[in-house]
Amino acid sequence: MTVSDTAVTIDPAVQQFLGEPRNMLIDGKWVEAASGKTFPVYNPATGQIMAQVAEGDQEDIHRAVSAARRAFDGGPWRKMIPSERGRLIHRLGDLIEAHREEFAQLESLDNGKPLTVARVADIPLAADLFHYMSGWATKIEGNTIPLSAGTYFAYTLREPIGVVGQIIPWNFPLLMAAWKLGPALAAGCTIVLKPAEQTPLSALRLGELISEAGFPDGVVNIVPGYGETAGAALAAHDGVDKVAFTGSTEVGKLIVQAAAGNLKKVSLELGGKSPNIVLSDMDLDVAIQGASFAIFFNHGQCCSAGSRLYVEKKAFDRVVAGVAEQAKKIKVGSGFEPSTQMGPLVSDEQLRRVTGYLESGISSGARPLSGGHRHGEQGYFVEPTVLVDVRQEMNVVQEEIFGPVVTAMPFTDLDEILPVANDTVYGLAAGIWTRDISKAHQLAAHVRAGTVWINCYNVFDAALPFGGYKQSGWGREMGHEVLEHYTEVKSVCIGL
Ligand code: ADP
Repeated sequence: MTVSDTAVTIDPAVQQFLGEPRNMLIDGKWVEAASGKTFPVYNPATGQIMAQVAEGDQEDIHRAVSAARRAFDGGPWRKMIPSERGRLIHRLGDLIEAHREEFAQLESLDNGKPLTVARVADIPLAADLFHYMSGWATKIEGNTIPLSAGTYFAYTLREPIGVVGQIIPWNFPLLMAAWKLGPALAAGCTIVLKPAEQTPLSALRLGELISEAGFPDGVVNIVPGYGETAGAALAAHDGVDKVAFTGSTEVGKLIVQAAAGNLKKVSLELGGKSPNIVLSDMDLDVAIQGASFAIFFNHGQCCSAGSRLYVEKKAFDRVVAGVAEQAKKIKVGSGFEPSTQMGPLVSDEQLRRVTGYLESGISSGARPLSGGHRHGEQGYFVEPTVLVDVRQEMNVVQEEIFGPVVTAMPFTDLDEILPVANDTVYGLAAGIWTRDISKAHQLAAHVRAGTVWINCYNVFDAALPFGGYKQSGWGREMGHEVLEHYTEVKSVCIGL
């Protein structure tokens, strides 16, 4: 294991976890890949290998789906009363809290994010998601329906949708696993989870806690592997009733095609290019802080990142200068350094992607007020970047960069900004900064996005639905809305 020279002592449990190859969880057992293959997991701060993980492929997915099917069709899970199901889910949340430091370290090493951020954001939010969803296990209800057709008694049941395939990304590895597993478990489904190949470690550790919490064998199966192999096999498998995916819009479209074979249900949480709109009446210091947080949190590797900053003309110079100043002050370094505010991007591929956007944007006339380049020569670091002199049709304004890069443009009034704000294929989130309540509500009503943050940004809560309009996805995560994606409605009609 190579984790660079770090200022924080690595938890012995983490040392041990990284020290031996990690297997996959199928039917309650930790097994090697059918092929015997493993793949390397890199430390993004150094670019060096820090763990080996079993490489799942079609055969492993098939075994996992078969185990999930057996667990769904028979066995203790289907017979379990809802309150017991809820208790198990709650216990899983408790176990995450009990292992908070261990998870925070795994997440920081694997993803690159600052340990300080993983401690206060990723891990507590993951625990909270399970605690919140545990309460829903006992509250999934149908209705009684008055019929006009005659003398009948009719009601609906909400039943678990069945075997669910879940494919998650690398930006918040444990939290994304929680967003997916929590509602599926509350609904009574069984699951095959495929973590991202860049960041499989925390999901595998979570698998151990799932067994410890007492979930029956086969209810949660975890198969690490690459997207084109394990992920594609899961999305296409005929034994899967529903696939839930979080990742890029491009792969989301492949998931839809793969799902067509057996018409499995699909929910998708995809990319974004979210507008963040600052009106000049706002306390501009607050807006500057907010706009910086909106793009630089998690190194811009958030599907909801406020990556298009629009500022009312008279406040433009001050706000963009302020955000650029914030960007220059951000301490970039290894996530394990206590003073680090921004870690490396997750992978060499992401580094090349983000610096490629910087080069093409700058060569098309964009001007960096801060950053614009790779940071250092080792690891996958990028300078926090503010680009001005951009035009709406440029790639850097239209496409999701998924890095710490914000474009900034001025506007004159609401009539001008509304069509511009909606002018991308995405519709995930939007930010509005104003003290004018009327303008705030007008903008919120007209922006085509699944989440609108007013005078705040990147606020996530297990109770608040999250998901996209347009090409940002299908369906919602979290809140009670997500349960609809893990249940089927059955109408029962009795002639009286
Ligand atoms: P990013 O581009 O941000 O890495 P992706 O959308 O490629 O995000 O990846 C998100 C998840 O989708 C990962 O778990 C990845 O392995 C998986 N994935 C990638 N390609 C496919 C595919 N063709 N079919 C199914 N899953 C895939």
